[in-house]
Amino acid sequence: MKAATKFIHAGAHPDPSTGAIMTPIYQTSTYVQSAPGKHKGFEYARSQNPTRKALEEALAIIENGKHGLAFSSGVAATDAVLKLLLPGDEVIASNDMYGGSYRLFTKIFQNYGIKFHFVNMQDPVNVKAAMNDKTKLIWTETPTNPLMNITDIGAIAELTKGKKIWICVDNTFASPYLQNPLDLGADIVMHSSTKYLGGHSDVIQGALMMNDDELREKLYFIQKSSGAVPGPMDCFLVLRGIKTLHVRMKQHCENGRILATWLKKHPKVGRVYWCGFEDHPGYNVAKKQMKDFGGMMSFTLKDDTIEAAMKVLSSTKVFSLAESLGGVESLINHPASMTHASIPREERIKNGLSDALIRLSVGIEDAEDLIEDLNQAISK
Ligand SMILES: *Cc1c(COP(=O)(O)O)cnc(C)c1O
Repeated sequence: MKAATKFIHAGAHPDPSTGAIMTPIYQTSTYVQSAPGKHKGFEYARSQNPTRKALEEALAIIENGKHGLAFSSGVAATDAVLKLLLPGDEVIASNDMYGGSYRLFTKIFQNYGIKFHFVNMQDPVNVKAAMNDKTKLIWTETPTNPLMNITDIGAIAELTKGKKIWICVDNTFASPYLQNPLDLGADIVMHSSTKYLGGHSDVIQGALMMNDDELREKLYFIQKSSGAVPGPMDCFLVLRGIKTLHVRMKQHCENGRILATWLKKHPKVGRVYWCGFEDHPGYNVAKKQMKDFGGMMSFTLKDDTIEAAMKVLSSTKVFSLAESLGGVESLINHPASMTHASIPREERIKNGLSDALIRLSVGIEDAEDLIEDLNQAISK
């Protein structure tokens, strides 16, 4: 089935009791049994909920996976993956990634005896060099937040062939419309559904998708035992969001291309980080593994000072200054003090995330209005 049809029909079955075309919001904590153990597959809503079930089916389908699991946030989904590990196990992770994932790894899981190696994954050789017989998980984000670096998922999968190492790809930035890591050899795909899947900045949620039955059982056990499940209303919102993912993504990509190209030519702009430029170091890999280049980008000004960046950040009128991304409305963000504040400055600078970097989540408004807005903010 082609993307457009898949996104609209994934997980959708008329409700058996009324024929309602949308799965109802089953706002219930428990289900009545006719005798102990005699029920319709639903016992208690932390373990099963029909609205969540419909969403989880959709999540699997949109990533070309066999199984999907929904969590109360993106970091709750990440937390569940890390709970597959035991003390002494080692993880290789990207040195440029979402600040909250970095915080979870270093401030929570490191205390439980799990060791992390943060490497530059733009070259798979660095991953190979960090691998040893304790390596259990490779965690990668591509494109990365906020520098838009690209990891060759297929090349990483090649390195782990025949080894008991899981590859988990945080596919939040690309969305399943642009990239399907399971098809490229990843074992688990993680999403912050808060972003493009929900798409309307009205819900916090996370997702995991996988093919392996045993891995699904392990992660389902963690989901119900640790209990970070989303409520039925939130599941409904993400289910609804997915139906328009392909239409929104096409516009995000078109606007992204227009804005990145415009920014690159602006006399006051320094460097533009967008993986659709032919001189981007990851361009060829991005072209190979993604359908298009998306609506996320970062840039610096020629006047590379925090003061100059702050002026732009507080002068936009259509772009809202806010954390998060992937909604229909455009957002502007200062990673160093907002989304990536939990990464120590020294570490951040070493990996290329400068103090004055500005990140954009280009929405699906009229591109001309977006350009006009950025232009007045940059020219101030
Ligand atoms: C937002 C985000 C997360 C965390 O997801 P939440 O839904 O905020 O918990 C993880 N990875 C990336 C790339 C993100 O942008």
